[in-house]
Amino acid sequence: MARRLYAPTAAVLALGIFALDVLSPLQGAVAVLYTTVVVLVGRTHSRGLILSAAGLCTVLAIIGYCASHWDDPLGSPAMRLAVSLIALGVTTALFLRQLAESTERELADARYRTIFTAAGFPIWESDWSGAYALLLKASSLDEASVRRAFQLARVRNANDAAARLFGLADRSELMGGTVDDFATPAAFESLARIYGALLRGRMAVEEETCFVTRSGEAIDVLLQVSLPPDHGGWKRVLVMAADVTERNRAQARLAQSQAALTHMSRVTTLGQIAASIAHEVNQPLSAIITYARSGRRWLEREAPGAAEVADCLDHITSNGTRAADVIAGIRELARKADPSHERMALKTLIEDTEALLRRDLQVHDVTLRITVEPELPTLMGDRVQLQQVLMNLVLNAQQAMADLPPGQREMCLTAAQDGDALIVEVSDCGIGLADDPETVFRPFFTTKDDGMGIGLAICRSILEQHHGTLTARNNPGGGASFRLRLPAALDTEAFAA
Ligand code: ADP
Repeated sequence: MARRLYAPTAAVLALGIFALDVLSPLQGAVAVLYTTVVVLVGRTHSRGLILSAAGLCTVLAIIGYCASHWDDPLGSPAMRLAVSLIALGVTTALFLRQLAESTERELADARYRTIFTAAGFPIWESDWSGAYALLLKASSLDEASVRRAFQLARVRNANDAAARLFGLADRSELMGGTVDDFATPAAFESLARIYGALLRGRMAVEEETCFVTRSGEAIDVLLQVSLPPDHGGWKRVLVMAADVTERNRAQARLAQSQAALTHMSRVTTLGQIAASIAHEVNQPLSAIITYARSGRRWLEREAPGAAEVADCLDHITSNGTRAADVIAGIRELARKADPSHERMALKTLIEDTEALLRRDLQVHDVTLRITVEPELPTLMGDRVQLQQVLMNLVLNAQQAMADLPPGQREMCLTAAQDGDALIVEVSDCGIGLADDPETVFRPFFTTKDDGMGIGLAICRSILEQHHGTLTARNNPGGGASFRLRLPAALDTEAFAA
C-alpha cells in the first residue's frame, strides 16, 4: 500500500471498529481492535500521526463504551475497556520506541556517510566476504589465492578522493567494482600480509605498498585496513589510504643529497691529510727501491748470497703490501658507495684510523694516546662512515691545539663499554668550545678560515643513522671532549631489535 494511504485507511478502520463496538453485542471486547489502527499508522514512521491515532482510538473507545454501557458503567465491560486501553497504550509505546531507535540509526548512518564522502583522504568500504570464504579454504596464502581473493573483493562505497587516488573521474567508477586492476606484485605481497594478520584475529592492519593508477603511474600508498566489530565474516571492511609517493620521493632525494654531502666531507678530510698520505705511500716505496738495489748487489757478488736476496725480496713484498694497503684504505674512503651494514671490531676501526692519521699527527707534533678496554663487543654499521667520524674528531682536536707549544699537544682517545653501548671519547687540551657546545653541530658553523662547518653535522647524522649519539662538552681543565655512543652488537638479534 502507498505510504500516503496509511492515514486515511487507518481513520476508516478506526471508524469501522467504533461502529462495530457500538452496534455489536460483544460488550467492549471490540475496543482491543483499535491496536490494529496504531499498527497501521506506525508504518508511516510519523510520531505525530501515531500519537494522534492513539488519542483518537482512546477517545472512540471511551465514547463507544459510554454509548453502550451508560446505564451500567462498572462491571466486566469496564474491565475489558481497561484491558483494551492498556493494549493500545503498550502498542503505541512500542511503536514510539522503535521509531526513536530507527531515527537514531538513520542519523548515525547519515553522519557516517557524510564523514565518509567529506573525508579529504581516500577511503572505501569493501565486501571481502568472498575473499574470506576462499582464504579459509585455501591451504596457504600463496600468490594465486591472494590474487583470486582480491578479485572477489567488491567496493560497496567509496569517496571521490579514493577514485582520484586511482586516477578515476569520480566515485561512481569504483562502486560495485574491484580494485585488483590497480594492484602491483608488491601490493599482492602486502595483501598476503594483511589477509594473514586479519585471519589471525587482528582488527586493523597497516601496510605500505605500491599501486598503479589507471594511466599506469606507480603510486606508493599507505593502507589502513580495519574490520568493524559487526563485519560479519569480512562483509564490511574499511580501507583508508594515504598517497605517500611524494613523501617517499622527497625522502629518497634527501638521502641522496645527504650521501653526497657525507662523501664530499670525507673527500675534503682526505684532502687535508693528502700530504701525509703521500708520505705514507712514499715510505714503503723508498724501502722497496732500497731493498731491490741491495738485492741486486747481493746477486752481483762473485758468490751471490741466496739467503740475503730472499730476505730482500721478503722486505719488498711486505713494503709493497703496506703501500697497497694504504692505497686501498684511501680508495675505500674516497669511494662513493651505498651505506653498508657489517660487523666490526671497534679496536680495528680505531687502529685503522690511527694508521691513516699517524703521519699527520707526527707532522703537527701531536701525541695521541689510545686506550681501548679489552674484550669489547663488536658493533654493526658502515665501517667507512664510522672511520670518517673518528677521523673528523681527531683532526678537529689536532687543529684545536695548533696554538699550543709543540710539547703540550696531547689528545686521548678512549673506547669502553657502557651496558649495551660502546663509548668512544676524543678529548683534547685545545681552545675548547663556545658557551653552548651544541653550536658546533650546526651545519656551516666554523671558526676556521678554510673550514666548511659541515664535518660535525655529518658526524652526528652518521651516528643517528647508526642509532647512536654524538655529544660535545668542555673539559674542566681546558679543551674539549667529543663522546660518541653506539649500540653494541651483543648478538645479531639484539641489534636488529
Ligand atoms: P670545520 O672543521 O670545517 O670547521 P666541523 O663541523 O668539523 O667543521 O667543526 C665546526 C666547528 O666546531 C669548528 O670550526 C670549531 O670551531 C669547532 N670545533 C670542532 N672540534 C673542536 C675541538 N675539538 N675543539 C674546539 N672547537 C672545535
